[in-house]
Amino acid sequence: MEEERVKKGTKIMVRLGERICGRESFTAKALGLLPAYNTYRKTYALLQESQGWSREELAAHQAKALSRLLDHAYENVPYYRRVFQEQSLVPEDIQTPEDLVLLPFLTRADLQTNLPDLKAQNYPESAFEYVTTGGSTGIPVGFYYERGVSRAREWAFMKTQWDRVGYRFTDRCAVLRGYIVGSAKEGVYWKKTLCGRWLLMSSHHMAEETLPAYIDRIKRFKPRFIQGYPSTAVILARYMREHGIEPFPTVKAVLCGSENLYPWQRDLLTEAFGCRVFSWYGNSEQTVLAGECEESCHYHIFPEYGIVELIGRDGQPVQGPGAMGEVVATNLTNFVCPLIRYRTMDLATAGRGPCTCGRSYPILERVEGRVQDFIVTGKGELLSGIAMNIDTDAFDNVKQFQFYQEKVGEVILNVVRKPAFSKQDAEYLYREVSRSCGDDVLITIRYVDNIPLTARGKYRYFVQDLPIHFSEREGGIVEHASPDLLA
Ligand SMILES: [Zn+2]
Repeated sequence: MEEERVKKGTKIMVRLGERICGRESFTAKALGLLPAYNTYRKTYALLQESQGWSREELAAHQAKALSRLLDHAYENVPYYRRVFQEQSLVPEDIQTPEDLVLLPFLTRADLQTNLPDLKAQNYPESAFEYVTTGGSTGIPVGFYYERGVSRAREWAFMKTQWDRVGYRFTDRCAVLRGYIVGSAKEGVYWKKTLCGRWLLMSSHHMAEETLPAYIDRIKRFKPRFIQGYPSTAVILARYMREHGIEPFPTVKAVLCGSENLYPWQRDLLTEAFGCRVFSWYGNSEQTVLAGECEESCHYHIFPEYGIVELIGRDGQPVQGPGAMGEVVATNLTNFVCPLIRYRTMDLATAGRGPCTCGRSYPILERVEGRVQDFIVTGKGELLSGIAMNIDTDAFDNVKQFQFYQEKVGEVILNVVRKPAFSKQDAEYLYREVSRSCGDDVLITIRYVDNIPLTARGKYRYFVQDLPIHFSEREGGIVEHASPDLLA
């Protein structure tokens, strides 16, 4: 029975391989995909079981995975051998996730500087797949996945969380991420992939004139899911709502990731697509993954994936539900390039358990977004983008917009106007945005011709040019700090 399943699975992967690799190197590639499939299958099976485990069972699993990781890092990873020695520690000193505070954080800068020493010496060179992230914003970082393993494992986790809204591999999916596909000349802005199951749609061609063609194509494609960046899906949703276009009848849920999902975006997407919006939070470094519960909009952290700490401004773990901290995460499965206490520079708020769904997973009530996406008020306080409401009628005659900050307490709102945009619109917009940002932020509206996408094809609502540090220890912006500190 088991073998049957493996064979069937292999066939699917082989077909997939054929599609990806072409026929020449087909056999070699297909064989190469087998370990990936086995990793996927094993991880998925574990998750089916572990989501029913009690808090104690999950804690035991994490403690075991953590000590395996730390033993390995101490033995085989020069950077961590050095860190342990500098702290006069051995792996046995860290028995539980709470003991991790004994080890220092790993910042993006540490990762950049020490990458050669973060490679495990007991793996062959062929096991390392170099990956980079964060080029468009913040500090770009490079790190390693385990070739053929890390991505397969990630898929098992993604599938497990998408199961919560009924996703199956055979389902059709319209994908609105940062792709450039098709050509304006031919009026085609999409292409099919994954044996025709996924329709990748270009985010670079979405405009007032082309969106009717997008909508028509989606209708004919009959997807069961829309998957995308919230900011890209919002462009389509806004257009549909403004033109009174009915939701796609076949779409069962919108799957949103890779960017923070703001409450106003969730409301808009839910209304325009007439279905559940399901979001997850993770990063390319694969240190944390948390997906929404099917019974609420809170996020369940996968404890099998990594250990998540929320760290306050004083550098210590925050306590209790409702407390906000920086997500500091330890991946439990990447042995080729272990990332221990990695500072994600994302902020999140702890939630209260237990959940009605019965899972004992830890809960995040909200993901506040990247530290670099916060507005700095005149008093030096950090204002979360979550507090902003963009989905008001004040934006009705605004084609595109982007907030930009380069001075403490001042925010520039770049606006691309629609033809009907009037002086009254400008005044109304100014009032609404000023109200959202509070008394300590001065708003200036600036008219521009267009707002370019990032290199990764994302629409960014906010560009922060001030260096923002959540932690007091870094001497950056802290509450009630004098703006002079930033000069
Ligand atoms: Zn739940």
